[in-house]
Amino acid sequence: MSREKSLELLKLESLLNRVSTHHPLREEMANRLGRLSAGHFGESTAEHYMKYFPGISRQDVRLHDGIQPFQIDTLLISKECLVILEVKNYKGELHFDLDQRKLIRTIDGKIEIFQDPFIQVALQKFQLQRWIKRSGFPSIPIYSFIVIANSNASLTFQGEDLSKRKRVIFAKQLPTHLTKFMENFKGKNVWTDDHLDEFSARIKAEYIPYDSDVMKQYGISKDELNWGVPCPSCRLLGMVRRRDHWLCESCGSKSKDAHLHLLKDHQLLIGDTITNAEFRASTGIGSVKVARTLLNQCCTHNNRHSKARKYTIDLVR
Ligand SMILES: [Zn+2]
Repeated sequence: MSREKSLELLKLESLLNRVSTHHPLREEMANRLGRLSAGHFGESTAEHYMKYFPGISRQDVRLHDGIQPFQIDTLLISKECLVILEVKNYKGELHFDLDQRKLIRTIDGKIEIFQDPFIQVALQKFQLQRWIKRSGFPSIPIYSFIVIANSNASLTFQGEDLSKRKRVIFAKQLPTHLTKFMENFKGKNVWTDDHLDEFSARIKAEYIPYDSDVMKQYGISKDELNWGVPCPSCRLLGMVRRRDHWLCESCGSKSKDAHLHLLKDHQLLIGDTITNAEFRASTGIGSVKVARTLLNQCCTHNNRHSKARKYTIDLVR
């Protein structure tokens, strides 16, 4: 596993610790984190069912189409065709508005609108086609399915395009669905075994480590996050600074260096420099002098004086 990927994992962990529990994309962040923690899809139901596919399956394909990078959760590779699987772990009632191109989810009486997954896979397909052409492989048909991992989700559709309805399937349906789907291609090989091997090797070799600006990715600004020094025991944010330590007013734990966790989160989510004022705003420390002492202990700084001084955090490498 690439180092950059574990950086994405660290960033997501920091983000989840500080984003509101009501944030509409929280579930998506947690899903992504879960997948990264498992290393790949290995543990998921979808992966289990993909074993029925008569070809190769590859998780987390990240390539560059010559203009920009793109990522595909799962790609099924056969001599006849390629199949993109976009796995969604959404719970609740899912309503695909095929005309308005939206996915509306209702859960616990709350309505949320997501990007139309068909738009997402259409772009993935376009970029993959570009990459295949640029890489010198013969053109091959590419199909895509939206896979709903949670078998308790309920699905409704609105719109005229019936072919799209057929492209949304539950993970459980993958074995029968893929087997039936592939029967349409019997004897219509486009690629040879050598193509398969080479393609498989190339997507591995050209894997683009993810430049994971998770804040940008989920459209979150610094002010939306809950700051405060996290308690190492109960994880609650907002330890209070006492003379020479941090105190958790919730569980009574004390810590000498709990602010390092906050600085680490700042480095991962905001950037590797911080000013005295920013540090005070995040930690709730009132005194400029106390903040300066703590920052001097763990950061280096440029020599500019007073307010303009920026401290460099080097806690994540
Ligand atoms: Zn505590």
